[in-house]
Amino acid sequence: MKTNILILNCGSSSLKFAVIDPTSEQEFISGLAERLGSPEAVIVSKFQGEKTTINIADEAHDGAIAGVLDVLKEKGLFDTIAAVGHRVVHGGEAFTASTLVAEDVKKAISDCIPLAPLHNPANLLGIEAAEKHFPGLPQAAVFDTAFHQTMPAQAYLYPVPYEYYTDLGLRKYGFHGTSYRFITASACEMLGRKTEETALLIAHLGNGASAAAVLNGEGVDTTMGLTPLDGLMMGTRSGSVDPNIFTFLRDQKGYSLDEVASVLNKKSGLLGLSQISNDCRAVEEAAAEGSKQALLTLDVYCYVLAKQLAGLAIGLGRIDALVFTGGIGENSELIRRKVVELMGIFGFKLDNDLNLKQRFGAEGVITAESGPVAMVVSTNEELMIARDTASLIK
Ligand code: ADP
Repeated sequence: MKTNILILNCGSSSLKFAVIDPTSEQEFISGLAERLGSPEAVIVSKFQGEKTTINIADEAHDGAIAGVLDVLKEKGLFDTIAAVGHRVVHGGEAFTASTLVAEDVKKAISDCIPLAPLHNPANLLGIEAAEKHFPGLPQAAVFDTAFHQTMPAQAYLYPVPYEYYTDLGLRKYGFHGTSYRFITASACEMLGRKTEETALLIAHLGNGASAAAVLNGEGVDTTMGLTPLDGLMMGTRSGSVDPNIFTFLRDQKGYSLDEVASVLNKKSGLLGLSQISNDCRAVEEAAAEGSKQALLTLDVYCYVLAKQLAGLAIGLGRIDALVFTGGIGENSELIRRKVVELMGIFGFKLDNDLNLKQRFGAEGVITAESGPVAMVVSTNEELMIARDTASLIK
């Protein structure tokens, strides 16, 4: 029986994939094709706990998808695939939900390329390669931006000349929407609350990081903006900074606009401030060994996060729960402890034992019984894409 969903997440030089049964939620295989287009291109897959690496020298997305197809055939999974679900980064204002792929959908994704010049072309390459290699299978597009389309204009408009919005689509979009949707459902289920009656602050803290205010199941504000550079401090991204940094660094260092953008996207955040690593665990280890720079970096990370969470609370009016997710949110008791303490102004009281317990896959509440709830919930964007794709082909 064909019931499984193949999930494809195409980046500019990589492709993540997984095969999931949306009913049992079992993941049969997952993998990553990376360094696409280079002599070192490989597909690394994990099947029944075993890792396999296949060389696909010089192959790009098309060749990588053909390679994934071979892997699925070899593992006896190819004939179980009912549909392909694609992660698409930017759906602009055109997409408020996931959709089956058709010519007009591809055109609309292509129209959003100016908003995500690195990501959307790769997403389209993935869709087209999957159409070629999996002919006849339905394809679904699941957008990072769609969840936030319910934001009110007061949250998404920037105070710049209005015609930039009407003519160019310059506004806040927000990202990580697939994760926010998954977390909203899971957190409400864990809390035994109705989604339609719950006010959530969600912090998705991975290499990229953002936070969102979710009121009664709908996104009402978020920290990422026109692009994923805005908002929280991240692994290598600065998050929100004074925009005049551009002219300052041009004048002081002779940088071009692209060079400043590259510094803010690739050399800032945890990496730039700590001068140690973009990886939170490595910065925490350095802090534990006494590095003052690492301690300062973690202080800035938590202060920025708490301050922006407090700002998002304005869009909610009340906080029923603060949810931590992503690699850092799910594992770092230190970041959670500092942030919950900084948010004591809202009445949060950390339970240290619970905070230490909810790590490495354990989920649940980390606050004392009095006061609002802070909790840890594991995200699973692939499963969300599988669920969406399955419901679209029903
Ligand atoms: P991505 O955004 O690439 O999906 P993840 O959600 O996997 O990233 O998060 C990666 C981040 O999670 C890294 O900064 C990593 O150091 C951090 N992380 C993972 N485990 C821990 C841990 N035990 N303590 C602190 N940080 C952790």
